[in-house]
Amino acid sequence: MATVAELREKLRRPLSAELAGGCQNRVVAGGVERLLASPLGNPFPKVREALRGYAELDGPEREAALRGALALLADPDAPKAAPKRAATRTAPPTAAPGERLPLDAEIARLDTGPGGARKLQSLGLHTVRDVLHAYPHRHEDRRALPDLSEVEDGQKVTVEGRVVAKSRRSPKPGMQILDVTLETPSGGRVKATWFNQPWVEKQLREGARLVLTGRVKRFGRSVQLGVEHLETVDGAQDSLSTGRIVGVYDSKDGVSQEFLRRAAHRALLAAPLDDYLPAHWRQKYALTDLGDALWGMHYPADEAQLARANHRLRFDEYLFLELRMLLQGEDAVLEGKRFGAKSEDIHTFEGALPFRFTNAQRRVLLEITDDMRSDRQMARLVQGDVGSGKTAVAACALYLAVRDGYQGALMAPTEILARQHYANLVGYLGKLDVRVGLLIGAMTPKAKLEMQTRIAEGDVDVVAGTQALIQENVRFDNLGLAVVDEEHRFGVQQRRRLLAGRPDVLVMSATPIPRSLALTAYGDLELSIIDELPPGRTPIETKLVQDTARQQAYGFVMRQIREGRQAFVVTALIEENDTLELLAATQLADDLKTILPEARTEVLHGKMSAAEKDHVMDRFRAHDFDLLVSTTVIEVGVDVPNATVMVIENAERFGLAQLHQLRGRVGRGSAQSYCVLIAGEHSKKTRQRLKIIEGSTDGFVIAEADLKLRGPGEIRGTRQSGIPDLRLADLANDTQIIEQARELAKHILAHDPKLEHPRLQYLRSELQNRSQSVAYREVI
Ligand code: ADP
Ligand code: MG
Repeated sequence: MATVAELREKLRRPLSAELAGGCQNRVVAGGVERLLASPLGNPFPKVREALRGYAELDGPEREAALRGALALLADPDAPKAAPKRAATRTAPPTAAPGERLPLDAEIARLDTGPGGARKLQSLGLHTVRDVLHAYPHRHEDRRALPDLSEVEDGQKVTVEGRVVAKSRRSPKPGMQILDVTLETPSGGRVKATWFNQPWVEKQLREGARLVLTGRVKRFGRSVQLGVEHLETVDGAQDSLSTGRIVGVYDSKDGVSQEFLRRAAHRALLAAPLDDYLPAHWRQKYALTDLGDALWGMHYPADEAQLARANHRLRFDEYLFLELRMLLQGEDAVLEGKRFGAKSEDIHTFEGALPFRFTNAQRRVLLEITDDMRSDRQMARLVQGDVGSGKTAVAACALYLAVRDGYQGALMAPTEILARQHYANLVGYLGKLDVRVGLLIGAMTPKAKLEMQTRIAEGDVDVVAGTQALIQENVRFDNLGLAVVDEEHRFGVQQRRRLLAGRPDVLVMSATPIPRSLALTAYGDLELSIIDELPPGRTPIETKLVQDTARQQAYGFVMRQIREGRQAFVVTALIEENDTLELLAATQLADDLKTILPEARTEVLHGKMSAAEKDHVMDRFRAHDFDLLVSTTVIEVGVDVPNATVMVIENAERFGLAQLHQLRGRVGRGSAQSYCVLIAGEHSKKTRQRLKIIEGSTDGFVIAEADLKLRGPGEIRGTRQSGIPDLRLADLANDTQIIEQARELAKHILAHDPKLEHPRLQYLRSELQNRSQSVAYREVI
């Protein structure tokens, strides 16, 4: 029998959630009155009375009624809060139950258990607002366990159960299989299997409660689960992780999904979820209110709520982005450098090339030189598929800047890329008497200082580098043009800092985004598109194979290696765990060393230091070995012309855009190149998706086909845009939302350019506090 105190607590919790959620009568299924009509309400007739007719009350009345009810439920034995807090408290007090915390309250005030605040901080979450807006990157449906006897072969499912048995076997050398038998709550049994991941075993003691996601493999009547995602569930009473649609968050070692769910739950309960969008606008654009949206993103009651949440929060992201762009617009036309950009210099540059520019390159170069010749600051995005020749065009622009007596910079997101750009620039510009330098974090302090001095004294003309280029102690003598590669990996702030000396700016990106959407994503940039590949490229031949044909696939790789070629082998990142990444890569390399003993094989992974990675890449480029096994760290633009084969293991786990980028790593020389996609267990739908990659090498075609294949109601991963400030955005899909958000942003600012109306007070403060751009905070 539950004690009255326990019943009181059971009733109090949903009611304070209802209060915190903005009194929408949504927190309790069936409504607040239904809850009180249940046996739970019996011991509390006064509370029942206080909330009678709740559904019919308006907002403030509901709030008053709830506060009254909660007061009645307050524990009579609990010590009364001291009227005044001692002034010398070191730790900030955590919120009392039912007390609200401001959105900007430090997370230490959110009661997340011992070490909780530190864990959240390690993920970059510092305030209650941060926690609320750290959305799950995908959701899992754990409401009802699927009936495994009816699940199709290859289908992805989530099951929950207790470990009742486990065993290990090694059917052949180099292969380790871990089998675990789970007993599900309904008494059924499922066999779950891990291939070559012995380190998983630690987490699987007998009796442990697990939630597993993976693909079903049928052998006649028996069912096996190839596990892709594992979660251990500790608190048996914790209903946040089971029996519902559950969010899966970005995390890292030592921070469990359960913890993050609990933290989000606390934040939802504690924060005031007052809507910053006035109701009539929400109505106009069919948007749900903020409380419903935030609860629905973290704890959706059903798919419909998740869809509402996604729509609303995505709209908001675009709205804030548009507002920001419009507010910055006023000083968008800044004075920049004015270059001569003489056509004879362009001829000189082209004359030194081993090829001629394509028409598309020529057109884009014209657009760039027009900008350079005007005294407005150039802010232009050059978009083009991998290998379309963006870097060659940028090198020409840099040459023109140097000819006018300015310095140029080329900034890349990784050290490997920076070094590659450096090598390319030396190739393009070295023979034209341009002094090219390199500045990256991995250099010795002495070498760095030396380069910084040369930069400051104008002793070097063009510098390639990483973020190291925009650190405080780098002063250019006379920076005229800055080229930024794969910009979306830099934050807005970083771009601004680079702009401090107000050079002209050219951004290069290979992300295929349709024109109208690019304008939003990079709203403050003009757009140039290189829509043509250089001639004479033999298209990469792509082949999709089942992992049962893995042996043959590597036989093919070996034949290429015997002909003197090199090959990349890429393995999927294992979600939510970065040490496993390393193990996956080394394991695969060991495996390949057994299958291909003749090939010289090495590994590259994300846990290596930048210097180690560079060293491996340098040796690969020098053909010191044949086969490079890597995690996705090679994703962006590494050039090894002699590499003709790209093998992608577990291709089913990659997105199409990513596969396309990876494939672009080969086919950089004149030889015929190949891409082999090895797919493990997958559904029909995934197969269709992979077929797209097999059938096309055009980034735009692939993006569009991908779009058509996705169902609108699909519960799918978020964080796809790769653009800072847009977490939920799915640019290819969001045309309509973007237009609406832009319309509203314009409307708002047309009537109230500084957002001063009291009605917009929340919107204004949300805009200020959400924005990561310091420059922006100064604008408003
Ligand atoms: P991106 O930066 O768009 O990936 P790059 O400028 O690095 O493309 O060019 C890819 C490769 O194609 C380089 O090896 C480059 O030398 C070569 N290339 C660039 N433009 C042309 C062209 N017009 N004709 C032939 N080869 C070209
Ligand atoms: Mg490039």
